[in-house]
Amino acid sequence: MNETAPFRVRAEIDLAALRANVRALRAHAPDAAFMAVVKADAYGHGMVPCAKAAVQAGAAWIGTATPEEALALRAAGLPGRIMCWLWTPGGPWREGVEAGLDMSVSAPWALEEVTAAAREAGRTARIQLKADTGLGRNGCMPADWPELVAASLRAEAEGLVRVTGLWSHFACADEPGHPSIAAQLTVFREMVAYAEGEGIRPEVRHIANSPATLTLPETHFDLVRPGIAMYGVSPSPEVGTPEDFGLRPVMTLTASLAHVKHAPGGHGVSYGHHYVTPGATTLGLVPAGYGDGIPRHASGTAPVLVDGKWRTVAGRVAMDQFVVDLGGDEPEVGAEAVLFGPGDRGEPTAEDWAQAAGTIAYEIVTRIGSRVPRVYV
Ligand code: PLP
Repeated sequence: MNETAPFRVRAEIDLAALRANVRALRAHAPDAAFMAVVKADAYGHGMVPCAKAAVQAGAAWIGTATPEEALALRAAGLPGRIMCWLWTPGGPWREGVEAGLDMSVSAPWALEEVTAAAREAGRTARIQLKADTGLGRNGCMPADWPELVAASLRAEAEGLVRVTGLWSHFACADEPGHPSIAAQLTVFREMVAYAEGEGIRPEVRHIANSPATLTLPETHFDLVRPGIAMYGVSPSPEVGTPEDFGLRPVMTLTASLAHVKHAPGGHGVSYGHHYVTPGATTLGLVPAGYGDGIPRHASGTAPVLVDGKWRTVAGRVAMDQFVVDLGGDEPEVGAEAVLFGPGDRGEPTAEDWAQAAGTIAYEIVTRIGSRVPRVYV
């Protein structure tokens, strides 16, 4: 896309920043391999370009949630290790085996489906056993682990699978000092020791997401698996700011004002008239709405940079547009309205939007929708 062409709204994706973030994260975990988590279209940043940039910066592994995402990466020509972890019965196991994916297995049904696919394909499937060490989401419970380990060893003996990894995921690593972190680590160590004692020989053992990669070196094991930090966004305000860790936000979301006009005092703005102009003012129309992934919960609260000043979303965010009160300023129609970015040009950040919308910055960037063109710089 032409970077200088007029636009309605666009998300500029700074791949140099993403590469620098990967290098910074690798410096936090120098002895571990790096898995770049690019699920959900790389948290809204664009899966294939971000995966390629991460590989250029030294990511030996790519991680996705769904097998479809992982297969799309293979189809796009990514040759290295790709792991995916969110399977449902009847999933594309055969394609996964043939594409050489690392496929997560949490339960006997999944092991049965992957071994059947391996048998059909005449190839050994790469699987990683997921332990529920305390997140309570996917993963095998400690009580069921011996059975899953034993069944995996039998499938290995038949040449149907190779257990390449033992892994888990934290519940509260973004809350420094939370007691569940140490508890999960203890359970993880025990479950890994059990599996290895029974004869599993994994290539990688891993549990660290972004906050653990940044702040908990004892969790790094053989591989770290950051997502949000790679995009230069902090996992939580408690963990710190992106700058604290040498990270730079990758996405800048900008719109061109579609209308600028004078309005008298007492003028109701947007659906429901939740904002009424307090006096004579100017109103600017930002042509982006919840159809583009702008959170409706940001109505009346979120900041936007126009002409060097922070303005607030006036009234409700609608499907395609929202209004800012420009307080009498008269920027040209077409002037830039920066919703969020790195913050060093005075613009708000995704964290500011998250606070305004009562959510987490992960959701702010990830929900930016397919109607918003990504411009890679
Ligand atoms: N690993 C798994 C299994 C995940 O689901 C996620 C994302 O939620 C990540 C790693 C990356 O987490 P974060 O974005 O907090 O680094």
